[in-house]
Amino acid sequence: MIDLKQNIQFIKGVGPARVALLNKLGIFTLEDLVTYFPREYEDRGVFKKISELVDGDVACFKAVPISRPNEARIKKNMTITKVIVRDETGTALLTWFNQSYIKNQIDAAEEYVFYGKVQRAYGGRVEISNAIFDKDGETKNTGKIIPLYPLTYGMSQNVIRSIIENALKITNNQFEEFLPSWIRKDYDICEINYAINNIHFPEKTEDFMIAKKRIAFQELLLLQLGLLNFKEKAKVENVGIEFKEDEHIDEFLNVLPFKLTNAQMRAWNEIRKDMESNKAMNRLVQGDVGSGKTVVAAMAMYKAVKNGYQASMMAPTAILATQHYESISKMLEPFGIKCALFTSSLTKKQKEKLKEELINGEIDIAIGTHALIEEDIEFKNVGLVITDEQHRFGVRQRAKLSSKGECTDTLVMTATPIPRTLALILYGDLDISIIDELPPGRQKIDTYAVKKNMENRINDFIKKQIGEGRQAYVVCPLIEESDASDLKSVELMYEYYKKVFPDLRIKFLHGKMKNKEKDEIMTSFKNGDIDILISTTVIEVGVDVPNATLMIVENAERFGLAQLHQLRGRVGRGKHKSYCILKYESNSDIVKQRMKIMEQTNDGFVISEQDLKLRGPGDFFGTMQHGVPEFKVANLFTDMELLKKAQECSKKILLDDPYLKKDENLKIKEKIDDLFKTITI
Ligand code: ADP
Ligand code: MG
Repeated sequence: MIDLKQNIQFIKGVGPARVALLNKLGIFTLEDLVTYFPREYEDRGVFKKISELVDGDVACFKAVPISRPNEARIKKNMTITKVIVRDETGTALLTWFNQSYIKNQIDAAEEYVFYGKVQRAYGGRVEISNAIFDKDGETKNTGKIIPLYPLTYGMSQNVIRSIIENALKITNNQFEEFLPSWIRKDYDICEINYAINNIHFPEKTEDFMIAKKRIAFQELLLLQLGLLNFKEKAKVENVGIEFKEDEHIDEFLNVLPFKLTNAQMRAWNEIRKDMESNKAMNRLVQGDVGSGKTVVAAMAMYKAVKNGYQASMMAPTAILATQHYESISKMLEPFGIKCALFTSSLTKKQKEKLKEELINGEIDIAIGTHALIEEDIEFKNVGLVITDEQHRFGVRQRAKLSSKGECTDTLVMTATPIPRTLALILYGDLDISIIDELPPGRQKIDTYAVKKNMENRINDFIKKQIGEGRQAYVVCPLIEESDASDLKSVELMYEYYKKVFPDLRIKFLHGKMKNKEKDEIMTSFKNGDIDILISTTVIEVGVDVPNATLMIVENAERFGLAQLHQLRGRVGRGKHKSYCILKYESNSDIVKQRMKIMEQTNDGFVISEQDLKLRGPGDFFGTMQHGVPEFKVANLFTDMELLKKAQECSKKILLDDPYLKKDENLKIKEKIDDLFKTITI
């Protein structure tokens, strides 16, 4: 058997310098190399006639030079090599810059295949610069589909292509098939060696499509199986607590200062049905910022407690957990329900006391951060587990919180409207409720994307708003220390705003500060003692400051749209008209398009779909903040159908073999372990 883990230095054509370059691309082993897939392909297998070539074509054609190439020096450091070639339909002028060796590679009167980008003025001659070519009959660079790989400086397409060719010779079709034959048959999936060979060097487009389908399917399947693996409940019989229906929710609703929206009511009814059934609830509640998820969560917790169980709710930051604790205890304590807050800032003594009360059942509802999933936190009988802003938590953390009770019902809440494809992957086995309606009276947040030349006008506007008693957020992108670009750090921005507005009360906040310090600043902003709060995205989630009406985002091009939308949701929480100003410094079309989307819509779902489309799934998972490995081939946007199939298939597998212990599934299990080993969730 071949050793896939062998170091690339043993591959023909790979010396120390290339080892270093390949390492830069994340390639260390033979396996890395053969699974380093092309980023795109050029079809150089279709031939045209010279007369058919139009301006802008990137095409192949066969032709014969009418003479040897001639070379001229046009500047001190520049030579130009020219040759005129012809076929039976016309002639073309080919030029190369600074490639003197070309003149020795091309003979008059021999036929060649040329490939390149056509320039042709109206009625003029075909001209191509820096054409790629082969002698007729050779197919080194033309006459077939050519893969193009992501490169690093110092590595050329030709070099990496030939290294991969050599690597495939070593592997020599000896990849072990790890998909059971029934899967390949039922889902029409090709054999693995065929797939690997043809994803690199397909002869025809169809071969590539078949190969791509296999690789994408396998990526989706392994991911899906891996994720379901964490969901203990997906494996065993899905027994849940049967909460009773006599919790008198009306008593709770009657004292609420508002009426639930229809969407909230719908979500609540779905949750309630799940809770009352004898199966464990696994439900995701998606709702845009401000759609009122907290009260729905409170209703579920109220029901759990009225049924004699404890409930717990986990949020990603201390500020957010605290805010939930405050609003939920305000809603529920009048009913004799005792809530407690667990964060890492508890003193040892406080924590001991709360732990004690939690295990003996004095505390009904525990709200907190990751502190809740620490080993030593035990409940008496937790029956409902809620995680808020779920996309910040990994699958394992969610499972860990659930494991604190037996057969707990699980509710996941997210304000990031996740595109359906992504939701299906991350929450494959969750039912989804959508709160797609904002409470009445909310105003639209006007959004403007602006460049530097508007700075003075923007500053005047800020001054005016603050003069009217409002407050502003300024958000800057997070900067890695290694990042040498001139992005604006929080401190620099602070200096800038201090200078522009010497009389205003300005403070800044960033992730490296101590929680206590952050909380203090946030609290004083909330109390109106700060006019402008400058920060990184630490304020991204959930904090409520109704008097803040301005959200200014610096280097907005650096943020994902979903994130910008989330930030924008920090304003427009009170009765005053609110604005979001996106400052950006890029001329890229994609950036402009993205900014435009933000200006045009306030609908989080539209935004996240567009985001995924414009950024591509690779970027979407870029930071792995979802706790999901990246795909090499599968595309979440275009492979929806395949995803559904992979999902169906993984459920079949687990139904038959919940722990992947059968012989035919052992290799799949190995692959999954391997895949998830590298991500820390
Ligand atoms: P999110 O979905 O972002 O978590 P919240 O639950 O924090 O939203 O709700 C945002 C604000 O809207 C809160 O101040 C809450 O009291 C209020 N709210 C929630 N539901 C309603 C409703 N049906 N009518 C009016 N206000 C509501
Ligand atoms: Mg919320």
